[in-house]
Amino acid sequence: MFIDQVQITIASGAGGHGHISFRREKYVPNGGPDGGDGGRGGDIVFEASTSINTLIDFRYKKKFAAETGVKGGASKCSGRNGEDLVLKVPVGTLVRYGWETETGEKGIVMADLNAPGERRILAKGGRGGRGNQHFATPSRQAPKFCEDGRPGKEYRVTLELKLIADAGIIGFPNAGKSTLLSRVTAAKPKIANYQFTTLAPNLGVVRLDYETDFVLADIPGLIEGASEGVGLGFDFLRHIERTRVLIHMVDAARMEDFEDEEADDFGLTPVQAVEKINAELGAFNPALLERPQIIVANKMDLPTIEAQLAELEKYAADKGWPFFKISGATGAGMQELMRGVADAIAAAPPTANFEADYGTFFEPEVHSDSITVEKGDDDGHFYVEGPGIERMLGYTNLADERGFAFFQRFLRDRGIIAKLEELGIQENDTVHLYEHEFDYWK
Ligand code: GDP
Ligand code: MG
Repeated sequence: MFIDQVQITIASGAGGHGHISFRREKYVPNGGPDGGDGGRGGDIVFEASTSINTLIDFRYKKKFAAETGVKGGASKCSGRNGEDLVLKVPVGTLVRYGWETETGEKGIVMADLNAPGERRILAKGGRGGRGNQHFATPSRQAPKFCEDGRPGKEYRVTLELKLIADAGIIGFPNAGKSTLLSRVTAAKPKIANYQFTTLAPNLGVVRLDYETDFVLADIPGLIEGASEGVGLGFDFLRHIERTRVLIHMVDAARMEDFEDEEADDFGLTPVQAVEKINAELGAFNPALLERPQIIVANKMDLPTIEAQLAELEKYAADKGWPFFKISGATGAGMQELMRGVADAIAAAPPTANFEADYGTFFEPEVHSDSITVEKGDDDGHFYVEGPGIERMLGYTNLADERGFAFFQRFLRDRGIIAKLEELGIQENDTVHLYEHEFDYWK
């Protein structure tokens, strides 16, 4: 099954904690601190791979976590770094921050992986905590505390596959899009004489001669999915956003009468059919209407209505679009069409890549030191919050007596104790520091 959009959670590894230990050697009565550092947590790395062409690997498994760093050991032994987790995605995958909201809002682009082999780190592993070997000072020669490793990063992200094809074949169901692709490339799309056959875009490479080749995509449109109620909606149209030229296929054979309620859509003249598809394109993204089109009258082996064909040819000429008559069944006109497509691709401007706001995720953490001290209205408890305190909590091992003493000194030095007293704190009152809770003692 072709999967072109998934929502997953990625988590880099936390850093390993530092270690507390002291050197023990013969003839050295009081060895210095030798607790090693924790290892770095593993990164989440995305890699654009040409050997994968759908996002199916991400369909059932939803959370991808890299390894945590190993904690430090005695004798200055550093813990091992966590393994990075490399997630291979098809070339052309966009990674967006966050999951799509109910209203269809999408997050900013974290990465646009459109070069084969391209790698991006999208969640950095947490730094390892330093062992107590680093904390000896002249006045504190036996530090009994160390740092905790820093947490990893966890993001919800949406992966969106946007195929990279030079030309996309668009048109109504049954116009012969898949047939064309199968004729001119080695791709094996499903072909059938009923509507809604192609529910996944297919890609193929057209080789005209030694110098000229291009990638062609058969793109099932809005109309297919929407009318069948499979909920594809605009989904597949996103693949067109990267194509440089659109091959617009029209069934030139005399229209059959459709008996069902879809008759309105399919009893159109060729020109009306082209306009209808283009209206859908424009509704999805108006910029697509500026993409060069090639109008193709297909099924010329069957009886056609001459007046309608002439109208189509004139319509194309008015727009300045090339016009070709072909038969997917007999292959007539195919060579000329492919030459025309190659020329149009050569003349078309390259499509822009998506602007990736990659940097945002790698700004150093907010180094604001602000700390707020408040008294809760309901419970009379005291709450100390803010990035300054959060960072401190992350670095300090509160379970350790010395670490705790260090932390208390920090509270005093930063004026937090004074602020609590200002707010009227009494002995035995409760103070909350995020998930930590203390009773207050003078
Ligand atoms: P798609 O829905 O646009 O991908 O259309 P398909 O390629 O699946 O073709 C729909 C039907 O039209 C199939 O039965 C094809 O065999 C038939 N078909 C495609 N091209 C031609 C053609 O040039 N002449 C004739 N007679 N039939 C064709
Ligand atoms: Mg098809």
